[in-house]
Amino acid sequence: MSNDASSYISLYRRYRPQRFSEVVGQEEVTRTLRNAVVAGQVAHAYLFSGERGIGKTTVARILARAVNCLHPEGGEPCNECANCKTIIANRTLDILEIDGASNRGIDHIRRLREEVAFAPTDLRTKVYIIDEVHMLTNEAFNALLKTLEEPPPHVVFIFATTEPHKVPRTILSRCQAFDFRKIPQEKIAARLRQIARQEDIPIEDPALELIARKANGGMRDAIVMLEQAESFRQEGKITTDSLLGMLGLVGREEHAAFLNAVEAGDRKAVLELIDSLVDRGKDLEVFLGDMIVTLRDRIAAGGSKDEARDIALVRGLLDIKQELFRSLDRRIVLEIGILSLMQTLAPRESVKEEPRPKPEEKPEPKPEPTAAPPLIAAAREGPSEEAQQEPTPPAADGSLEARWEGMLRKIEQERIAIAAFLAEGTPRIEGNKLRIMFHPEFTFHKESLEKSDNMQYLAGMVHRYLGDEFVVEVEFNDNAVRKPSPREALREKARLLCEVFDGRVVKED
Ligand SMILES: [Zn+2]
Repeated sequence: MSNDASSYISLYRRYRPQRFSEVVGQEEVTRTLRNAVVAGQVAHAYLFSGERGIGKTTVARILARAVNCLHPEGGEPCNECANCKTIIANRTLDILEIDGASNRGIDHIRRLREEVAFAPTDLRTKVYIIDEVHMLTNEAFNALLKTLEEPPPHVVFIFATTEPHKVPRTILSRCQAFDFRKIPQEKIAARLRQIARQEDIPIEDPALELIARKANGGMRDAIVMLEQAESFRQEGKITTDSLLGMLGLVGREEHAAFLNAVEAGDRKAVLELIDSLVDRGKDLEVFLGDMIVTLRDRIAAGGSKDEARDIALVRGLLDIKQELFRSLDRRIVLEIGILSLMQTLAPRESVKEEPRPKPEEKPEPKPEPTAAPPLIAAAREGPSEEAQQEPTPPAADGSLEARWEGMLRKIEQERIAIAAFLAEGTPRIEGNKLRIMFHPEFTFHKESLEKSDNMQYLAGMVHRYLGDEFVVEVEFNDNAVRKPSPREALREKARLLCEVFDGRVVKED
């Protein structure tokens, strides 16, 4: 295996099908699409629905090339002509992949509508692939609908979704819909066998079958697992035993392991489990939802050893889940959320943990000068109560900028997602108004901040740090600075947190 991070391409990407005929397990879909390309009857809008990792985006990309290919062969893209190469190299603005989860607002769709009207620049047909389309807001759907009602001739929309029931009927009725099926186990096994042979990965057949079974119909999961197994392999072949060790626990057992790790304050185990979920392309929101159900069942069945604590845990998980729903970087929100939640919950008596600092003691070395108050608890109790127990922030003196920075640092400790949104805004004081302006491109940030619980929290912080008289307003402003995405900063923050907690750095693909 290559270790050169810059040139390394994952097994999954290397073996991603480039032609319809290479797509495993979706023969009905690919046959119909090929026929449509041959007949020149490609629809203006498609809806691809089905679970994660079964080929929706892969097929969408192949179709994008097929409709633009200069020398298509039986409805397949040639992958050799100028158009195919431009698309493969990702050098064209005519093929656009949009993540519906992070571009869900009306403004994105409005802009998209404007762009749609223009003819393609390098290709014949513009193709818009909107992934997780069910995440769009109603307003955005309505704007999209107007385009779908009178689609320009040079445009194809491909919507992909894991939850087609959340897509409005009005949109569905304008799409040609395809259901992507879970891929049969034997087909996954056959593909894995082929890849293992080509890559010289020594694996016993029962182990290969086990991966195919655990992948539960998803080719992406299967290939990622094969790659992991190879990277963990020490000597000899990959066997079912070595595989079981690597895969650890699945399903209910995995939830139980996660809960145990949270309850035991085992940060390393928690981060590793999240890592493994992300690697396997699992839906973090679904995972959290399952954990909440597991806990609720335990409480309902009277199986709680400490009911109050379990209820607090469920509440904390619900908060994180809600935050996750709107986040750009779900993994970090989950990691930071869970780690913060672990800090707030007193460890079970049976569980050993480092002693918690007494109020007057200096806390253990942390990235911040003050002991971070529990994230979830602070949010729930409101900041005013907490302010009484704490030295008053420098509300009276210090420049606005310094006070603003101080507030940001505090928010960063308490609600990292809010801090990330704020970091991209431009603050301005006018009278008793604090205006936080966002460049119109930052719809998501503005909308997220405007959520009532976020606004309430922010207003409280503003009163503490800037003064009681201030009213907060969040608005769009064309002149607001378009700041770089906070992803890097957030990542760095998460990395630091992890280092402090356990010397472990979050992996990034
Ligand atoms: Zn071509």
